[in-house]
Amino acid sequence: MNPPAARLERVEAWGMSSASVSYVYRPTTFSGILDALETARAYGLPVGMKGGGNSYGDAFQNSEGVLLDLSRMDRVLSFDPHTGVVRGEAGLTIRDLWRHVIDDGWWPPVVSGTSHVTLGGALSANIHGKNNYHAGPIGDHVRRFDILLASGETRTCSRSENSETFYAAIGGFGLLGVITAVDLQLKRVFSGLLEVQAFSVADWHEVFATFDTNRRADYIVAWIDCMKAGRGAGHGLIHAANHRKRGDDPHPEESLNSRAQGQPDTVLGWLPRSQMYKIMRRFMGARRMALINAAKFKAGKREHETRKMQPIAEFNFLLDSAPNWKWAYKPGGLIQYQPFVPQENARRVFDEITALSRDRRHPPYLGVMKRHRPDPFLLSHAVDGYSLALDYPIGRSRESLWDLCHAMDEIVLNAGGRFYFAKDSTLDRAAVRRFLGEGTVQQFLDLKRRLDPESLFQTELSKRLFGGLRSKLARQRMETQENTRLPRPFWAKSPTATTESPENDVSSFQED
Ligand SMILES: Cc1cc2nc3c(=O)[nH]c(=O)nc-3n(C[C@H](O)[C@H](O)[C@H](O)COP(=O)(O)OP(=O)(O)OC[C@H]3O[C@@H](n4cnc5c(N)ncnc54)[C@H](O)[C@@H]3O)c2cc1C
Repeated sequence: MNPPAARLERVEAWGMSSASVSYVYRPTTFSGILDALETARAYGLPVGMKGGGNSYGDAFQNSEGVLLDLSRMDRVLSFDPHTGVVRGEAGLTIRDLWRHVIDDGWWPPVVSGTSHVTLGGALSANIHGKNNYHAGPIGDHVRRFDILLASGETRTCSRSENSETFYAAIGGFGLLGVITAVDLQLKRVFSGLLEVQAFSVADWHEVFATFDTNRRADYIVAWIDCMKAGRGAGHGLIHAANHRKRGDDPHPEESLNSRAQGQPDTVLGWLPRSQMYKIMRRFMGARRMALINAAKFKAGKREHETRKMQPIAEFNFLLDSAPNWKWAYKPGGLIQYQPFVPQENARRVFDEITALSRDRRHPPYLGVMKRHRPDPFLLSHAVDGYSLALDYPIGRSRESLWDLCHAMDEIVLNAGGRFYFAKDSTLDRAAVRRFLGEGTVQQFLDLKRRLDPESLFQTELSKRLFGGLRSKLARQRMETQENTRLPRPFWAKSPTATTESPENDVSSFQED
């Protein structure tokens, strides 16, 4: 027995590196979410959640299960322009959020490189921005959120109420329940423009020195040409940016609106941005990409130590300025590999993994470096150090690329590094236990057993990294198929749901 076949859809990872087929439900109301969970429970199928679908790998996939797509639950529920506290539904995107609040002088405190991320996805991954080293991840700015548990109960979580769930569900990748609404403290801004300074850096040494001298900047990010070997390895461009202080901008109303933040629809006055990927596609291939990178670096030298004013959205969402740029990587798609490395080891590790990539003929086409600080969330990916996000085309050599990633894992783990599940496609369970620690993994799985004793919530990522295939739901599904009798809805207080102690249920979420 299965849900209607008309619900079946192919769901692709953002990086197009994997796909799965799921029964997709797109509720617009809270009761719609309950209905979808009831359906899943009735058919004995696990449930995965999807926000904007911007995770590079399998974080929102749930093969042959139910996929709850929350992107239609996208309302701003309340906004106080005096305090900057906003309450939004889980499917509200960062893009719709900043457009709603900017006229009143507010901006999301933490944003990712794309604005198409939803609040639910942002909390579940605990996203970081180019200001992570002083602003922390988005979780640091969440006042409270509501989460719908597998039992049908909704819990409000904050630092003082249900705090264990607060620190675990933020960064918990949808494995504890459905986040339905979020209260966020926004950042006050006095202009829609940032003052941006550019630096051309000649090698890894200059990269780290420039990050260090600009440690008080509001944002800092580096583009690294990872194709460059030898003496100039690590060369690239760095941009450090600062918000303008109160009174610095004599006409803040001119930039504090979404029109002033937007970019023209065309590049050079004629090429539609939506078509840029077709031009990019012509430059795919290691040799051509090396030439592009070298040209970009050379052009960037002219910018060295120049300053300019740039709209906040344009600076933060550079990747959105070429819609569908990932299509340039078709047909194979791409993966991103983003290690987070303590500062004392970062330079050596970044040098080693980029050199190893070149040696194994998988040079990363794009390298982006950021500065980070630790945070208090249970499944944290952050360290007091740096991350380097590397984009790899998959092409025809998937196996050797995966081998390379596993070899790089060793280098990163031996240096005390961590990984970010939103960007991951290749990690294995042992690696996760090494960087999170066995105790932390057990703590998370214990909480999951208590909140979700039947392992209702699963994704391809959770199966790959934590196990959990043999859930009670799966057993129940087998029994259902044998008896062709559907069980009762799980919040209808069925005897099985209430009499069994979840702690004693060793079958749920155990490794297969
Ligand atoms: C071009 C690009 C640039 C990026 N830049 C950055 C960056 O700078 N910093 C950064 O941190 N990340 C970055 N990311 C990654 C992105 O921010 C995360 O993958 C984020 O989680 C995506 O949000 P989403 O709404 O698309 O969620 P999805 O990708 O759909 O889902 C992400 C996770 O959240 C879970 N989830 C979704 N909604 C809910 C919900 N309502 N309740 C519970 N769980 C839920 C899903 O099950 C999944 O595990 C980037 C991604 C792209 C494509």
